[in-house]
Amino acid sequence: MFEFCVQHPSGIEKAAYAMQDTKIPHNPRRWNMTYNILALLPSLLPAAIAWAKSMTDPVIRNGSALTEQGLSVASAVGVAMPERIHIAMVDSLPMPQDETLRNVVCSTGLFGPDTVGLTLGYAILIAEGHATRRLLTHEFRHVHQYEKAGSIEKFLLAYLAEIATFGYFDAPLEIDARDHELH
Ligand SMILES: [Zn+2]
Repeated sequence: MFEFCVQHPSGIEKAAYAMQDTKIPHNPRRWNMTYNILALLPSLLPAAIAWAKSMTDPVIRNGSALTEQGLSVASAVGVAMPERIHIAMVDSLPMPQDETLRNVVCSTGLFGPDTVGLTLGYAILIAEGHATRRLLTHEFRHVHQYEKAGSIEKFLLAYLAEIATFGYFDAPLEIDARDHELH
């Protein structure tokens, strides 16, 4: 499954992220994939939530809280409770253990070996060497989206449905996060 990820052109907040104007070529097979993934979503959600929560708790416990400056930047992009945010720097972002979920996050371009940022509620994981203002404000905006959704469960359901329907790059929640990046 890892190989499958390597072949995929996309990845969430990928290392080649600076090329944000480069659109991922339209995949004519996407519609097939879309319907399959949308149909799978209800059964995948428990694994997705378990995966998210298993990573969230250690970050909240051991990650760094924001500095005064970080708090005001997070507020500026819409976070209501920035003091809850914790950030952990990691060598690489852990893939989900559930095989079906791993296939879905890889095949949608949501997650791959070039993934450098991931936000789960108030927990933000950043790959070592990628903690730029731009990436952090992008992730802060995802925190705002979680707050708006009301729970990790509700956010993930909406987010995964968007990724399955539009692809990573064109998902409205991703467009919104990009629109709020500060350089
Ligand atoms: Zn994003």
